[in-house]
Amino acid sequence: MPWSPCSPEPYPGIGAHWRARFGQPVRRVGLDPGFPCPHRDPRTGTGCAFCDPASFTAPSAATGPGRPVAEQLATGIAGLRRQGVNRFAAYFQPRTNTNASSGKLVAAWDVATRPPEVVALCVGTRPDCVPDPVLDLLAEYTGGREVWLELGLQSARNATLRALHRGHDAGQFADACRRARQRGLLVCAHVILGLPGEDAADEAHTAAFLAASGVEGVKLHQLAVVRGTPLEVRWRAGGLAVLDEAEYVDRTVAFCRQLSSATVLHRLVGDPAQERLLAPHFNKGRVVAAIRRRLRSATGNENAGPRAGVS
Ligand code: SF4
Repeated sequence: MPWSPCSPEPYPGIGAHWRARFGQPVRRVGLDPGFPCPHRDPRTGTGCAFCDPASFTAPSAATGPGRPVAEQLATGIAGLRRQGVNRFAAYFQPRTNTNASSGKLVAAWDVATRPPEVVALCVGTRPDCVPDPVLDLLAEYTGGREVWLELGLQSARNATLRALHRGHDAGQFADACRRARQRGLLVCAHVILGLPGEDAADEAHTAAFLAASGVEGVKLHQLAVVRGTPLEVRWRAGGLAVLDEAEYVDRTVAFCRQLSSATVLHRLVGDPAQERLLAPHFNKGRVVAAIRRRLRSATGNENAGPRAGVS
C-alpha cells in the first residue's frame, strides 16, 4: 500500500490518519514478545540515561509479557471490541522488537497479523538493530496493511546522544530510515524534547533532520525523570531541569512547525507510569489540547472540527 497522507487535517494524529485511511477507528493493541534490549547491560542494568524498563506502560495482567503473543492479541482485541472498535494495530512496543532470530520475528509477526481486522503493524526498535534481512522480513507484511517501523532517535545531535548513552548516532538513524523507506515501510521517529543541554534551536535542528530524512511519522515525549534512572541522580542534585507544561507546548509547536504538515503525529505527550515518575507531572489532556489548538492556528485551520486524540 503506497504511502500518502490520508487525513485532510495538518499534522494529523495517528487516530485521525487511520480513520481516514480505513474508514473507521483503529486502536493499538500493545504486544510484548519478550525480546530484550541489546543496549541494556544485563549485569549492570545500564542503558539509556532516561530509560527505566519498569516504566514501560505496563500491559494488563491478562496481556502482559510471558504470555503467547496470540493470547495477548486476542485479549487486547476482545477488550477493544467491547468498546465498539473493530480494526486494530498490532503494536510491538517495549524494548527492542527486532532483536531476535528471524524465526522468532516471523512467528511473532505472523501471529499478530493473522486476524484480518489487524490493519496495521507497528514495531518499535533501535536504529542500530535493523539489518537488511530484518527489514526484508518486515516488508513482507506490507501487503494490504500499514507497517510502521518506530525508530528511537531522541535527538539528531550526536553530542546529546553520547551524553544520553544512546549507543548510536544520527547517521545510523538516517541510514536505517533510508533502508526502511526503500522497502515500503513507514518510519516513525521517537523524539524527546527538553533533553539536558538542548534548547529550542537544537530541537529545530532535529526536526529539520527528520524532515530531510522523509519520516512519515513522529512520536514526541517530554523529558521525564523516572525513579532508578541515571537522570534521577542529576535531578535530585539540582543539575537537571525539566520543562513545565507551557514550555513543553511552546517547544512542541515550534518543533512540529519544522516538519511537513503531512507528518503523522503518533504521540504528542509521553505517559510514564505515575508511580515511578518524579518530574514533570503534566495534565496530558490539557497539554495535547493546547498543542492541537496552536497547531491548528499555526496552519490557519483553527476552526476545523474536533480532532481524534493522539495516543
Ligand atoms: S530506551 Fe530503548 S534502547 Fe535505550 S535502554 Fe531503554 S529499551 Fe534499550
